[in-house]
Amino acid sequence: MENRRVALVTGASKGIGRAIAIRLAQSNIDIVINYNRDLEGVKKTQGKCNRFGVRTEILQGDMSKEEEVNLVFERIVDRFGKLDILINNAGITKDGLLISMKGEAFREVLEVNLFSAFYTMKLASRIMARNRFGRIINISSIVGIRGNAGQVNYSASKAGLIGMTKSLAKEMASRNILVNAIAPGFIETDMTDKLDDKVKEKILEEIPVKHFGKPEDIGNLVNFLVSDEANYITGQVISIDGGMNI
Ligand code: NAP
Repeated sequence: MENRRVALVTGASKGIGRAIAIRLAQSNIDIVINYNRDLEGVKKTQGKCNRFGVRTEILQGDMSKEEEVNLVFERIVDRFGKLDILINNAGITKDGLLISMKGEAFREVLEVNLFSAFYTMKLASRIMARNRFGRIINISSIVGIRGNAGQVNYSASKAGLIGMTKSLAKEMASRNILVNAIAPGFIETDMTDKLDDKVKEKILEEIPVKHFGKPEDIGNLVNFLVSDEANYITGQVISIDGGMNI
């Protein structure tokens, strides 16, 4: 049997996660497709990945809960025997100004966007260290670099991911485990679809290339970062934002 690499993509039932899963499948990588609630969406992701003839497995799990992450990893080891690539993509927003933000909204966003990566990276690092190979990509955000009014919770979680990325890159580099973060600008998905048209117009004015990004743009960058062509890149935060953060 062909010994393909195995990747876990968290939150791959739609949007950026789905595009990453499909792009990696196209590169002949077996894909563990995680989702939390959207079974219909995740099946669509799987169908598209299957077209490339790789092995795929859907694993449900709320990545903000350590017990559920543990179960997902137990199943990965059981079914694939290893994990080569981890993409921490699962994320949510709960926007509002700090003065009126409830502690719950702060905590929930931190748990889904940041604690999830702590749980997954801990388990993945152990498996990867044994095999002396690993590629971890954390999907951060431009907002984690420059902040955004109405998103203290989200920007804290995304800045936290950047700190974790750099620290883990230093901890694991000697075992051939490379850890990088991606900072997307505005990508057209369900997450950004919620914003009203006036807000979108204002954001567009800030983007030098004058259009929003697509989930596939992120899929292509992730595909490069996990490929052998990126073997000398670790601990970096790569912006992909049409110039928004220049
Ligand atoms: P999206 O369309 O809202 O999709 C979010 C995905 O995360 C869904 O698959 C969802 O799964 C999953 N998810 C949410 N909570 C989860 C949990 N507790 N456990 C497991 N999965 C969970 O969002 P997107 O725009 O594709 O964003 C993907 C990532 O990119 C996020 O981390 C986001 O912060 C980041 N990002 C997005 C943009 C942008 O402009 N869109 C910009 C910068 C960064 P279910 O539907 O099954 O619950």
